[in-house]
Amino acid sequence: MAKMYRDLKVIERKPEDRRTRVCIIYTGGTIGMVPKARGLEPATLEELLHVVPSLGEEDGIELGLVAFKEPVDSTFVSKEHWLAMAAAIEEHYEAFDGFVVLHGTDTMAFTTSALSFLLNNLGKPVVVTGSQLPIHEDRGDGRMNLIHAVAIAGYRATGLPRTCEVTLCFMDRLLRGNRAVKVSAEEWQGFDSPNFPRLGSIGEHIRIRKEFLRSPPKEGTPFYADKKFAGEVKVIYVTPGMTPAQLDRDLSTANLDGALLVTYGAGNAPSSEEFLEPLRSAIEGKGDRNRIQILNITQCLGGTVEMGLYAASAGLLDIGVASGLDLTFEAALAKMYWALAKYTGDEIKSGLQIAQRGEQSENLFDLVFSPEERGATRARSIIQPPVRYLHGYDQALLKSASFRVKGLHIIPDDEAIDQSAFRVFVGRQGAEESTSTNEPYFAGEYRESDLLAGGSLIIDVTRVVGTVIQSGPIYIGLVGLGAKLWCESITLTIFTDASYSRGA
Ligand code: ASP
Repeated sequence: MAKMYRDLKVIERKPEDRRTRVCIIYTGGTIGMVPKARGLEPATLEELLHVVPSLGEEDGIELGLVAFKEPVDSTFVSKEHWLAMAAAIEEHYEAFDGFVVLHGTDTMAFTTSALSFLLNNLGKPVVVTGSQLPIHEDRGDGRMNLIHAVAIAGYRATGLPRTCEVTLCFMDRLLRGNRAVKVSAEEWQGFDSPNFPRLGSIGEHIRIRKEFLRSPPKEGTPFYADKKFAGEVKVIYVTPGMTPAQLDRDLSTANLDGALLVTYGAGNAPSSEEFLEPLRSAIEGKGDRNRIQILNITQCLGGTVEMGLYAASAGLLDIGVASGLDLTFEAALAKMYWALAKYTGDEIKSGLQIAQRGEQSENLFDLVFSPEERGATRARSIIQPPVRYLHGYDQALLKSASFRVKGLHIIPDDEAIDQSAFRVFVGRQGAEESTSTNEPYFAGEYRESDLLAGGSLIIDVTRVVGTVIQSGPIYIGLVGLGAKLWCESITLTIFTDASYSRGA
């Protein structure tokens, strides 16, 4: 396929041994718009740089210039543009110390999110900027934004900390790209990062808060850009008045790869059986539908999805909807396009629920244990489901863990004397009645009166998980005491901290 961008041009500064090189990739946007016959249209990169002829000169920064052949209003930015931006960065990665992407503001936060996922083992700054007014306008913000972005990308010359991530630089702030949202169509402060601290403030000085930056990639892990995104992701914005039939129509779209369910508050949506059915059919691929992944994110700017907190979201959890935690809408959409192309099978859900590039504050691991193989319904005194595997879990980052049993039936051995209870063991293979409750795997003893409606049991197992669980094979067991047990499923959910520089 022909490249969407032109070959590199270089503006050389005086030759010096320790020269810093910044590559500017111009994709379009208001920053480079000039008045033409049909209204504002994108100028060439050369026309644009004409306004700041001494850009980077004072710091001795050498500039490389790559322009899209057809610079666009960012309203027209597509997945192909994102892949082309990532390809341009990959092509010139070795030759430059940092990159500045000039972009329209309308979809800038989608682009910063998409680039953050596409670029693997990023050890150099990729600073995306644009402006509310065209750069040639005296009163505008374009010059400042461009100058600041070049200063941050040219960190070696300017002495600023190295930002090994995709950032969004706009007016007085530097934001993590996959945490940013456009908050105003006209204020100078057009962007913010409601669920994550700003990475830097820009005033008389540029101050970068090192403690919030992502860590550089491990030594010897080479940089590369991913080359594909998934096809179609349906966005379903839950609103009062939405009907099950409407939901069903949305999810019946042919060739769907995934859906983003944008829900109320902590991840709530109408969850009567008639609303759940279209979602379940889509997840399970019933009839002639594709099997798709559904990701639940909140409509709120702050806070996080906590499926299971309210009854109105427990149904979504049970049918296998993935949690988008505190992802922004922009990051969630980009992550879906990326994860659906990168992973297959069960890895898609786990890949979505962990922080890949600092885009969310927590990692969520959920291991679903099916006590019986398909169709078996026999109650037994010990439930020991087949092993599940936990990957990429770091015990030191544990925040909380819960154990959820669904549809539990307790059948006393002797109906006359109901002393029946059961014990929960987490992380232990082969627990039985004689297993000591002093073992660190013991998570508690419960009875019928502890169950919620529908035979559910939800217990906090943070202490046990913090003591005994590591990445690798995970066993659990329910041991009946004077009773036989049967249940539909058991889920072990673990949250770990992903808030700052940690993550893949
Ligand atoms: N429509 C323009 C764009 O996104 C708006 C801007 O750049 O501010 O390209």
